[in-house]
Amino acid sequence: MKLQNKSISEQIELITRSLVALESYNGTAGESRKAQYIYDIVRSFPYFQKHPDKVWMQKVPNDGIGRQNVFALLEGESAKTLLFHAHYDTVGTDDYGALQEMAHDPDFLQKFFMDYEGEDKVREDARSGNWLFGRGSLDMQSGIAVHLANLLYFSEQKEHPKGNLLFLFNGDEESEHAGIIAALSELDRLKGEGFDYLAAVNTDFISPIYDGDCKRYIYTGAAGKFLPGFYIYGREAHVGDVLTSIDPTAIASKINLEINQNLDFVEKIPGEFTLPPSCLYFKDDKTAYNVQTPLSTSIYFNYFVYEKTARDVLYVMKKAAIKAVEQLEMKSREQYENYRSYHGFPERELSWHVDVLTLREYIFWLKERGLDPDPVMEEVYRRHEGEDRRTIAYKMVEALQLLDPDRTPRVIIFLAPPFLPHNYLNEENEYGKKVKDILEGCLNQISRETGEEFVVKRFFPYLADGSFLSLHEEDEDIEVITKNLPMIDDLYPVPIETIRKLNIPSINIGVYGKDGHQWTERVYKPYTFSVLPKIIQRVTKDLLNI
Ligand SMILES: [Zn+2]
Repeated sequence: MKLQNKSISEQIELITRSLVALESYNGTAGESRKAQYIYDIVRSFPYFQKHPDKVWMQKVPNDGIGRQNVFALLEGESAKTLLFHAHYDTVGTDDYGALQEMAHDPDFLQKFFMDYEGEDKVREDARSGNWLFGRGSLDMQSGIAVHLANLLYFSEQKEHPKGNLLFLFNGDEESEHAGIIAALSELDRLKGEGFDYLAAVNTDFISPIYDGDCKRYIYTGAAGKFLPGFYIYGREAHVGDVLTSIDPTAIASKINLEINQNLDFVEKIPGEFTLPPSCLYFKDDKTAYNVQTPLSTSIYFNYFVYEKTARDVLYVMKKAAIKAVEQLEMKSREQYENYRSYHGFPERELSWHVDVLTLREYIFWLKERGLDPDPVMEEVYRRHEGEDRRTIAYKMVEALQLLDPDRTPRVIIFLAPPFLPHNYLNEENEYGKKVKDILEGCLNQISRETGEEFVVKRFFPYLADGSFLSLHEEDEDIEVITKNLPMIDDLYPVPIETIRKLNIPSINIGVYGKDGHQWTERVYKPYTFSVLPKIIQRVTKDLLNI
């Protein structure tokens, strides 16, 4: 790729196009090829031809498709270090339908959308010539290109930067974040060599929030998330005797109505776009047809956390479940009584009570009765290894429920993988305030020069790799996570202590465009290719002066 004698915007466009042309769908061998391609680009820069040891690959351990992280280092005059990171995987291209074959051809897509009748805005954008289409153009091959062009820019300055500029390109952002999680050990190794991390800069994409919104949102952190799961074990009955059953599908339905998209669960943080929990899975566990009511049901929710912790989340989830089972208990008793007295049946000792426990509480309950949960979970884990992690978690919890000789109807609430820590700049401490002041100073200046309007927010609203660079939880919160996520060390081995030690605030100064994860995905060239690299350059220089 010829990058010499080109403006930075030309370089970024050229790199973006070459990256878009090369597919790297999450979970495919394309991810490794993309890593190699990025490595080769860095290696071609004059500085890295002279210093080949400053760019290297790190294998993601135990990774089924052999992912690699690419690191590049521009050594500075002090131990202060800024990390620049971007993910190279993209989602697939099924959304392109009949045009799937052309998903990596920006020029074809632009021509196609110039006559596209489906959506006026897309057509106008295509005709303006200001947008680059194609899978990954926005999310986030252009973000990689911005980092690469800046790496080239900094490497060609006469003076060394005031601190280390460390670049990381990783895969698996769109699924389980294996790339960034593996990178933590490398970041930790460098910390051991004296690197002092000031902050990380991610370029993941931003979009207008509403029609006509032209503001550029800069985020000083990223939302975290949990996946609280409910295993609901009822009491089966023949359909001919249905009123004696405890129906787990009814309990799950009630829990779903109580929690799903309920704005009462939204964290109220002024100025932030915080979101309610959403149901991602809801199934009864029957495997075949018969006339018995279902015995158990599984349901889990995506639960965003901004300032809240696992403890807060489990507390409100348990409260919601208790409310659901109590209401149903009352209703079931009433219905049964009405039916019984109508037919003149004799009274019968029957309870519709359902216990609600967190996994940690239930394990404690088992141990008190001399029942050992560990070998049971290990056996399940071995039997199902390699399957979907959520399925394994449910199978483990189910096996534990079956240890109860009384088969007590019960809701067990646990945390399923993955969880993403929330990463935010703590503006209450001096360092956090300083970083924010520097960022705002840079943005004000750029705003004056270019007329761009910036808004600084705290939480990147989508999920991002930056989450894994910092952890605010205290010991007790950590314990809530480790004790309620079954066999966390095997099922979801996130190096919690390393994250805590690194504690790198991740700022997102993102590429700008529309329709990420849709076939109309496109990046806005004037801002992304010209203004954005300058912002990052300025922020870099100013942060290194801290
Ligand atoms: Zn992304």
